[in-house]
Amino acid sequence: MISVRSCPGVEIFDGSTGRGSREYLAWVGANKDCYVVNAYKPKASYIIKLHRANCRHISDSNKQNYTETDYFKACSCSLQILENCIANWPGEVQHCSKCM
Ligand SMILES: [Zn+2]
Repeated sequence: MISVRSCPGVEIFDGSTGRGSREYLAWVGANKDCYVVNAYKPKASYIIKLHRANCRHISDSNKQNYTETDYFKACSCSLQILENCIANWPGEVQHCSKCM
């Protein structure tokens, strides 16, 4: 479960039923030109990192713990919607230096 508010147009994958790594990886596979935010689950109060969906850091299909442990993913095909959404979260937003 996450402690921040989601927004219309933003898909949250937090490890809950139907919102796990399998569903997350299917989403990034189908939306390679879209965007993914990686944030710390308990508070989203550390670094909130913004990636493109095809970034290796957040889309390696060999990994299976993208949403089940300490981190969750927030995904959107609109960078503006996603940035507006995470602007209200209590963390520092950073852009991935590899993909953004
Ligand atoms: Zn990245």
